[in-house]
Amino acid sequence: MRYAESVLDTIGNTPLVRLSKVTEGIAATVLAKVEYFNPGGSVKDRIAAAMIDAAEKSGELKPGGTIVEPTSGNTGVGLALVAQQRGYRCIFVCPDKVAEDKRAVLRAYGAEVVVTPTAVAPDSPESYYGVSDRIVAETPGAYKPNQFFNQNGPGAHYATTGPEIWRDTDGRVTHFVAGIGTGGTISGTSRFLKEASGGAVHVTGADPLGSIYSGGTGRPYLVEGVGEDMWPGAYARDLVDDVIAIDDAESFAMTRRLAREEGLLVGGSSGLAVAAALKAAKDLPAEAVVVVLLPDSGRGYLQKVYSDAWMRSLGFADPHSETTVREVLA
Ligand code: PMP
Repeated sequence: MRYAESVLDTIGNTPLVRLSKVTEGIAATVLAKVEYFNPGGSVKDRIAAAMIDAAEKSGELKPGGTIVEPTSGNTGVGLALVAQQRGYRCIFVCPDKVAEDKRAVLRAYGAEVVVTPTAVAPDSPESYYGVSDRIVAETPGAYKPNQFFNQNGPGAHYATTGPEIWRDTDGRVTHFVAGIGTGGTISGTSRFLKEASGGAVHVTGADPLGSIYSGGTGRPYLVEGVGEDMWPGAYARDLVDDVIAIDDAESFAMTRRLAREEGLLVGGSSGLAVAAALKAAKDLPAEAVVVVLLPDSGRGYLQKVYSDAWMRSLGFADPHSETTVREVLA
């Protein structure tokens, strides 16, 4: 019989899928690493098990303990999967810009969710960092994985994401592109790919316009899970060769194209990453192999980027996806 002992054993080994429609005019091969194939639906499943394993080993997390984390949802899902299997309570803190669908997923896994305002300073007691610190201080047996600083985050990508890309491209990958949130994905994957290739793989970060990674101040933007207003310890700047800023309109337009033209129903940070990857690939020769990481599924954003009403209300270009009965019968 061939089966996984638990759902946790199905994390990783996600496929590379060639992008063939949105890459019009590009000579290089552009391959998407589609992370929604992970059981929790995102790249973050990879780091959850690594962080919990390390905390159990170090004694920071004891049997019956509580995991508390500020998370935009995806890390919470991964942590909730692990916690559920091992008997931990989970409390997640998310900013109110996070889609309600995503919070509902966390609750469905049995986690508790606390919502905080987005438009406050990162050092405010009301910020999601501030609130999660208070919950940790007031909850006995609480442990905060702290994905923004936990080195097991990039470590998980060094151990899995990087080797998978190297293996699946037979070592032919020349460029790697990923969005930067905590920076764990790009830093750990880059470290592996640069080591494996003797420094030859070029690594490009994708950042929402306004975020600090591309020189902004961290002003609010709408793409979720990426961009920052402070420098997290999970991000190794020296392992990223350049960072391309993409605005919300372009990120969301590309997100919708990925669903409609490539059959990849992904979140806004995937559109952001692909938009940056296409800019990076524009003048590359045919032998170049660009791998771009798509962090999560679009199922959590049906009321946002995939809603015509939401897109219009924010002034984004008319996405033309609604068809009225009259148009069909005309
Ligand atoms: N996209 C989404 C949807 C995410 O949730 C995250 C994680 N914050 C990222 C991208 C960025 O990944 P990382 O934190 O590893 O930089």
